[in-house]
Amino acid sequence: MSDAAAALTEPAPAGPTALAGRVAAVAAEHAARHDQEASFPVEALAELRATGLLGLLVPAGHGGLGGDVTDLLDAAIRIGRADMSVAMIFAMHCQQVAAVVGHAGPQLRAELLPEIAAGRVYLASVTTEAGKGGHLRTAQAGLEVSDGDLVVDRFAPIVTGGAHADGFLVTMLRPGAGSPNQVSLVYAHRDQLTVTASGDWQPMGMRASHSAPLRLEGRLPGHQVVGEHGGFGRIAAEVFGPLAHLGWSASWLGTASGALSGVLTLLRSKDGRQRFNLDSELLLSRLGSARQRVDAVHALLRQTAQRVAEADDLSRPRNQLLLNTLKITAAEQCHAVVEDLIDAVGLQHGYLKDSPTGLERALRDLRSAALNYSNDRLRLADGRLALLDPEVRLA
Ligand SMILES: Cc1cc2nc3c(=O)[nH]c(=O)nc-3n(C[C@H](O)[C@H](O)[C@H](O)COP(=O)(O)OP(=O)(O)OC[C@H]3O[C@@H](n4cnc5c(N)ncnc54)[C@H](O)[C@@H]3O)c2cc1C
Repeated sequence: MSDAAAALTEPAPAGPTALAGRVAAVAAEHAARHDQEASFPVEALAELRATGLLGLLVPAGHGGLGGDVTDLLDAAIRIGRADMSVAMIFAMHCQQVAAVVGHAGPQLRAELLPEIAAGRVYLASVTTEAGKGGHLRTAQAGLEVSDGDLVVDRFAPIVTGGAHADGFLVTMLRPGAGSPNQVSLVYAHRDQLTVTASGDWQPMGMRASHSAPLRLEGRLPGHQVVGEHGGFGRIAAEVFGPLAHLGWSASWLGTASGALSGVLTLLRSKDGRQRFNLDSELLLSRLGSARQRVDAVHALLRQTAQRVAEADDLSRPRNQLLLNTLKITAAEQCHAVVEDLIDAVGLQHGYLKDSPTGLERALRDLRSAALNYSNDRLRLADGRLALLDPEVRLA
């Protein structure tokens, strides 16, 4: 058989979006129960492991899918259409993986990346700390050094998937730090730690993210520092900040576009045509407004991703401003999409838990977007950044 004929008969290898479709199908099947119980979506995590998507950003040389940020965004949007908690779990894991790929030393990369690629390591993120809130670039708890090991004792008030993670990337003050911004990022495998659940998780939305508080205690070999000791600021600027804002926004956009699609499908159905007046100017205006918000966030997401791919220095004010604008805008507009849609379809189809449109859960989940690294905090930072760019350079 010729190569061309073989290519026609063999199934095409599944790309990240198709793999994400498999995860989305599993997530959708179990979403209502995990939302109801505030329990972690173990079935979707198993599918993320089985599809290889946990290794999406792991280079092929380490056994991963060798994907890029566009693949991550496509997959997060796809999964977000089914379940925002699962999309955030996936996007935040990929953010951690990108930090390891870009900044870990050769020994840690060689030990960890093949495990992630094989689906054996799901990474959780530990940056938030009681007392400092979400402020990314500072820490309070300090690393100690004992017999060459790094000693970790860290309370973490909110850790998505912490009870199910195989490893953690943790921010702490570097040993002997003289100021709160001398932050180190360390990798800790679960079996190197005593992980103690320290509270319950009963939020309004994002219930399936199971982001409960933990205490982490243990000893780590010195090579498990990611980047330079005290050098987390660089990782925050190059990886954590950009991929958080891009990955979260993609997840929110997925949920908003999934909600819009659900409503449009309802309206176009036989029952929907009987129940709703599709000539109503109010209804049409609300649908138009929801679509406008979705398209605007999508355009901003893609433009920001392009800037991140091409920028030679992401710490420049105009790049930081764009990344913050994406996060703030996506948080506000995606939430507003679902608000529009609830007004459009009303109480029975918009406000009840068991409505097939799923708007009630989408609204509760999307309410977290403005809080997940506070929009207020970002606006304040943006004011300072704006003063550093008096020419208002847009490109
Ligand atoms: C669903 C979900 C999952 C999460 N998962 C994780 C996780 O896995 N790991 C992790 O480490 N964290 C996680 N977080 C935490 C998140 O990343 C933020 O850090 C956290 O929500 C911020 O906490 P906060 O609102 O208490 O604190 P802050 O960000 O300190 O804000 C508290 C409030 O104070 C005000 N405020 C505080 N400081 C300023 C300022 N400088 N300027 C202006 N206003 C200010 C704001 O109005 C803000 O709403 C998660 C959050 C959510 C919602």
